[in-house]
Amino acid sequence: MTAAVVGVDIGGTKTAAALVGPGGEVLERREVSTPARSGPEAVLDAAAALAADLLGAAGAGPVGVGTAGTVDPATGSIRYATDSLPGWTGTPVADALAARLGREVRVTNDVNAAALGECWAGAGRDRAHVLLAAVGTGLGGAIVRNGRVEAGARGAAGEVGHLPAPGADRLRCGCDRYGHLEAIASGTGLAAAYAIATGTRVTGRAVADRAAAGDEVARQVVDRAGRVLGAALAGLVALLDPAAVLVAGGAAGALLPAASAAYAAELPAGWADVPLLPAALGADAVVVGAARLALGTSE
Ligand SMILES: [Zn+2]
Repeated sequence: MTAAVVGVDIGGTKTAAALVGPGGEVLERREVSTPARSGPEAVLDAAAALAADLLGAAGAGPVGVGTAGTVDPATGSIRYATDSLPGWTGTPVADALAARLGREVRVTNDVNAAALGECWAGAGRDRAHVLLAAVGTGLGGAIVRNGRVEAGARGAAGEVGHLPAPGADRLRCGCDRYGHLEAIASGTGLAAAYAIATGTRVTGRAVADRAAAGDEVARQVVDRAGRVLGAALAGLVALLDPAAVLVAGGAAGALLPAASAAYAAELPAGWADVPLLPAALGADAVVVGAARLALGTSE
């Protein structure tokens, strides 16, 4: 029997750790606010304290980590991170946490970890090939092939947000360019499109809430975001040939109805049976996937 494993989720707002059982079930979970403004050492200390608290009940193997930012797959260091974690770029997360915990530490990007978690114990359970899109404030993505994260040359494969998207010409992407999918299909994108249409600036979540409450402009903005996302994912199915496409993140529920319709309409005939599914693990996806990373793929 496989012993329990510790998975850690380091985000710009919250840091969590969980003791995860052999079937991907969360046995115990701890969470703190990420001390992002105090710098990388404080963030590492907080993550290590949460993990150390759970290690007594875990097996002797590695600890897994999913973190915000692009992770160098060879070293477990951060190649690039946004200002949500100031100074995080260049931080040797794997080595620094291994020194604090006395264990091997395996690190990947948080969206990659979420995809691994969903393939282990969530909506992609028992599927070896999955494309996951994470629609939150921004739009991230990850590819799982043969049960492993496809890291790419720089740990950044699967970033679906920077594909060209129809109707995004006046909308600025998180990468500062215009016309990309993330500029429409993200919380930031919903807020920007709604502000252009109405002159009123509210959060992406508020736009989704207004759409659900019957605001016609908000409904059009959400529908368009969903349609553009669904069509893009259908095209990516032909490129990547996954067994399923998963949509995760805080805006997934709002975008899925329109996305599903556009996806079904645009899917090339040879892939008509590839489902578009809502992710199932919610806030646990990253810790569960980090634990899966720690286990390795040998079993
Ligand atoms: Zn972009």
